[in-house]
Amino acid sequence: MVDTVIENLFAALDNGVVLTGEALTGRYSHIWKTSSQLEAKAVLLPKSTEDLSTICRICYEHNQPIVLHGGLTGLVGGTESQITDIVISLQRLNQIEEVDTLCRTMTVQAGCILESIHQIAAAHDLFFPLNFGAKGSAQIGGCIATNAGGLRVKRFGMTRNLILGLEVVLANGKIINSLKKIIKNNAGYNLNQLFIGSEGTLGIITRATLKLEEKLVNRTSVFVGLSHFEDAIRLLRFCDLKFSGLLSAYEILWANTFEVLASKYKPLFGDKHRFYVLLEVLDNHSQLFKDLVFQVFEEALEKNMIQDAVFAHDAEDHALFWSIREDVEVLNAKAKFQQHFDVSVPINQMASYVEKVTFELAKVKAIEHVFCFGHLADGNLHFVVGKNTAETPLISMVNEIIYTPLKSIGGSISAEHGIGLEKKEWLSLCRSEEEMEVMLNIKNALDPKHLLNTGKIFD
Ligand SMILES: Cc1cc2nc3c(=O)[nH]c(=O)nc-3n(C[C@H](O)[C@H](O)[C@H](O)COP(=O)(O)OP(=O)(O)OC[C@H]3O[C@@H](n4cnc5c(N)ncnc54)[C@H](O)[C@@H]3O)c2cc1C
Repeated sequence: MVDTVIENLFAALDNGVVLTGEALTGRYSHIWKTSSQLEAKAVLLPKSTEDLSTICRICYEHNQPIVLHGGLTGLVGGTESQITDIVISLQRLNQIEEVDTLCRTMTVQAGCILESIHQIAAAHDLFFPLNFGAKGSAQIGGCIATNAGGLRVKRFGMTRNLILGLEVVLANGKIINSLKKIIKNNAGYNLNQLFIGSEGTLGIITRATLKLEEKLVNRTSVFVGLSHFEDAIRLLRFCDLKFSGLLSAYEILWANTFEVLASKYKPLFGDKHRFYVLLEVLDNHSQLFKDLVFQVFEEALEKNMIQDAVFAHDAEDHALFWSIREDVEVLNAKAKFQQHFDVSVPINQMASYVEKVTFELAKVKAIEHVFCFGHLADGNLHFVVGKNTAETPLISMVNEIIYTPLKSIGGSISAEHGIGLEKKEWLSLCRSEEEMEVMLNIKNALDPKHLLNTGKIFD
């Protein structure tokens, strides 16, 4: 049967932009599902903002739903599609357009991989702080669409703090260009911020101007063993006090999580501990400062805040420490099926929340492991729940155990990954009816036919 949208797209775009039929073989919806064939009637590979505008205009005229693909590392089903959808991949929009060393900005296309942005910034003696385990695959457009967080939020903020300008294509094909290099712009509503974190439901991000920092040459990473969760909070305050703003990462791992993550490397600690903190200080000071860091941990040891501390002495140690924290796929491998969570919890409620949740999960027979870790300084916890079945009632039960307590303690069902498909039925736990109504009004104003990432965040 002839599909008019596809016909129109073929007619309007260059060869190779529209892929259908056999050309979709080997395409998938997530980097962890490479053996499951993508469901879509076509995959589009635009080469420019203008291509995207044409695509959106044609899809809008034909009420054609669109699913957006960035680096496919998202963890809430945001890139899942159906056979009736058209998938647009941003992979070809991958040019770094400009590095402005005076304004300290970089203007990039949405399909640029985060790690290549790090490398280009470093080549100009500059630094882009956004950093997390999937940096080798995640695209900057995907990071912006999800307002990604990661390892250095403590000091530099989430993606929304790192973006100065955006170019966005709306559902009807209109292009909004606000690629400015200025930090302050109070001229009316901040539209850029509206698109950041909107998970591709309000517009398609095509280009961005990123805010860069001066390169930080000294990196101190310390792995610490502790016996009480409260000590991790004390140590956080102590480090903030001593390092006056230079602490850039502060990660916590529960003992069973650390043991699995560290199992393939040589042992770091002589003894076992109940909690582990991995922290990072970035600075441009002299050796004197490095000595101060040592002294701080000696003092923490004397004050019984910590049980042990191991320092990274060279690049190899740094790589080892951060591989332990970032290579979380090892946790996935421990069970046949998993559920992933990224919740926000006020820091003073964290220990009791985790205790309660793990106690409840331990009662469920089909659950084999519960791994907990997270960005402690941001109040952000991750759980990987390993199970021996993927049955729907079990998925709902695990969701309920993890999400329900968040309402009364003022937490959030998503600290960083977003809502996508997987969390939408729980959205009302952390958003009021009034907030959801305003969100829906915004969606209706920008995408009145609900064509962009249909069914994500809202039904
Ligand atoms: C090992 C691992 C570790 C991770 N660690 C973290 C972490 O610490 N912090 C964190 O925040 N996340 C983390 N994530 C989740 C994920 O990497 C982030 O959400 C990332 O920002 C997604 O980028 P992506 O390019 O892969 O986007 P995708 O997965 O391709 O897409 C994510 C969402 O954005 C939409 N989208 C993609 N590109 C665009 C665009 N150009 N315009 C509009 N919408 C678009 C998609 O439709 C989808 O809804 C991790 C993931 C993995 C696998």
